[in-house]
Amino acid sequence: MTYQIYALKYGERDTKESQFFFREASQKPLTLHFFIWVILGGPHPIVVDTGCTAADAQAKELRAFVSPADMLAKVGVKAAEVPVTLVSHLHWDHWGGYSLFPGSTFWMQREELEFWTGIAGQHENYRSFAIPESLAQLVRLNYSGRVKLVTGETEVMPGIRVHWVGGHTAGLQVVSVPTAKGTVVLTSDASHFYRNIERRDHHQPASDARGVREDRRAGGSEGARGGGPRSRSGHAL
Ligand SMILES: [Zn+2]
Repeated sequence: MTYQIYALKYGERDTKESQFFFREASQKPLTLHFFIWVILGGPHPIVVDTGCTAADAQAKELRAFVSPADMLAKVGVKAAEVPVTLVSHLHWDHWGGYSLFPGSTFWMQREELEFWTGIAGQHENYRSFAIPESLAQLVRLNYSGRVKLVTGETEVMPGIRVHWVGGHTAGLQVVSVPTAKGTVVLTSDASHFYRNIERRDHHQPASDARGVREDRRAGGSEGARGGGPRSRSGHAL
């Protein structure tokens, strides 16, 4: 079975090269494009990531925000009726839009849930990546049976798989999808830009506290697990 994928942009924001490439000193401007994805061709659509709400977008100074639900409507998908949403990780721009999907079960790595509802809140560094209200709601959703926790690699629909890669966050997962053009890997923030993959320049901050600790024990650098070289098993959108 092959599927079709749409990358749906819901906003943008300017940043600098130094923010997104490890040990890059350049302050050259760089525009970040914010996406969700939808996979069509199966018995029902599967959405990857939830984006964020208009309020989140305003608070985080996103430009040209369009609700992810409106973007889905452009390809004929009603967000309210999507039964499965895969959550790559729980940063605000990937999880903040959960309320747009009232009919969804949210699939995420167990490690990701544990990290953001636990140890991450202990560190000032991580707080800016999260919106605590949406993480609190995650606990309620879990208790109402709407969170599917997975570990490692799991098949979601025939041929569609999630894969743990970690690095950018403790439980970051990517999604592989068979298409007519070959296997597409939706890397999410395991690789923000093609440069991350092509030059093996991974993302600047190491967001995974456990990874940092392990690297220090091994005598490595703090950023050794930032980015996601293990996600390079196909084509990144
Ligand atoms: Zn992220």
